[in-house]
Amino acid sequence: MTTRDATAVLTLNAGSSSLKIGLFSAALEAMASGHVDRIGGEGSLTLRRADGALLALPDGVTADFSDHARSLATAIGALRALFPGLGIAAVGHRVVHGGPDHRGPIVIRGDALARLAAFEPFAPLHQPHNLAGIRAAIDAFPHAVQVACFDTAFHRGHPFVHDTFALPRALYDKGVRRYGFHGLSYDYVSGALARDWPALAGGRVIVAHLGNGASMCAMKAGRSVASTMGFSALDGLPMGTRCGQLDPGVVLYLMQQEGMDADAISDLLYRRSGLLGLSDLSNDMRRLEASDTPGAREAIDHFVFRIQREIGGLAAALRGLDGVVFCGGIGENSRMIRARVAEGMGWLGIQVDPGRNAANGPVISPDGAPVTVLTIPTDEEIVIARATAALSAQKEQVPA
Ligand code: AMP
Repeated sequence: MTTRDATAVLTLNAGSSSLKIGLFSAALEAMASGHVDRIGGEGSLTLRRADGALLALPDGVTADFSDHARSLATAIGALRALFPGLGIAAVGHRVVHGGPDHRGPIVIRGDALARLAAFEPFAPLHQPHNLAGIRAAIDAFPHAVQVACFDTAFHRGHPFVHDTFALPRALYDKGVRRYGFHGLSYDYVSGALARDWPALAGGRVIVAHLGNGASMCAMKAGRSVASTMGFSALDGLPMGTRCGQLDPGVVLYLMQQEGMDADAISDLLYRRSGLLGLSDLSNDMRRLEASDTPGAREAIDHFVFRIQREIGGLAAALRGLDGVVFCGGIGENSRMIRARVAEGMGWLGIQVDPGRNAANGPVISPDGAPVTVLTIPTDEEIVIARATAALSAQKEQVPA
C-alpha cells in the first residue's frame, strides 16, 4: 500500500512502559483507541471503539509486549483485523521536549530524530521512550509521514522574564530554561475557547490542567504567557506522585545529609511525592476524596492551596483575569476540587455556582460573575491528529 492509498492517521504516546494509540479517519473522526500497559513485563492491550465500548482482541493476533516495537506491532495487527483495508498515511507522536526552538510540530526527516535525542538529558524519563515510539512507527510504517508534536511548543513564546531562572546566563544559553509542559492540552483548550467562547478567548484566561500530572497556564488572547511547570515536569503544582515546586535547598540537603544520589532523589521526587507522598495512601484523587484519613485530607488541602496560590501568580502575570478553565481527569470530574479552589477567591472574581458545578459545566460560574469559570474536556490526541494531517498534506507524497 502506498501513502496515496492510505488515508488514516495514527497518534502515538509512548511512555516508559505504556503506549497510547489513537486511530483517526481521513476526516479526523476518531475510529478507535488502544492502550498497551506493562511493556517489557506481562503486558496487556485494551482496545476501544470511538464511543468508548471495549473491543475484544481479534482471533489470530499474536500478542507480544516485550518492547515498544513489538507492542506497536501487536496493536496494529489488532486494528488491521478490526478495520480491514486500513492504511496509515501518517503517524503523529507526542514528544515531551522540543527544546528551545520548536514552536510547533515538525515532520521527522533527515537528522530530526538525532536532534530530538539531544534533548533526552532535559527529560530523561520521557524523551527516550517518545523517540523509541517514533523508531517503532518508522519500522512499522516506512512510507507514512511521521510527525512530532511537542508538549513544550505551546509555551515557547514566553517572554524572557518567564523563560529564565536567575542562574548564570551561560546555563540559559545551554537550554536550562522554564519550558512548560502539557502544551498539547493547552493548545486544545485554546482552540475550543476560540470556537465556543470567542469573547473569552481574546482575554486573560488561566487553564488548570489537573490530572495525574498537573499544571496551569496563563493565556492571553489564546497564547501562553506563563506556566507553572518549568525546566522539568516536576515544577509547579503537586501532582499524583510528583512533588511540584520545591526549594532547591531540599535537594542539596537530601544529597549532603541523607546521602541520596541522583537516582534515589529522582525516584523520590517523580514517583513517591505529591498526593501519594503526602497522603501516604494514594495518588488517585477519587480514593483521597473517599478517604477520611488525616493524610488524605491534608494532601487535598495542600493541592487546593497550591492551585489557589498559583492562580494569584498567574493572574499577576496576566495583569487581571477574565476566565478560568478546568481540564484533566480531576479538573473535568471533581466537583469538590473545583468548589474548593473557588473558595475564598471571590476577591479575584472567581465564583462557582453549586448547581452548575454539580452538573459539571461547561459554565460553572454564576451569571454576571466577573470571571467566567468553565470545564472543558481536553483532547490531546485530536491536537496531534490535526497537526499530523496538516503537515502530511503539506509534504510531497512519494509513492512507495
Ligand atoms: P488524568 O491523568 O487526566 O487521567 O487524571 C487522573 C486523575 O483524575 C486521578 O487522580 C483520578 O482520581 C482523577 N479523577 C478522575 N475522575 C474523577 C472523579 N470523578 N472525581 C475525582 N477525581 C477524578
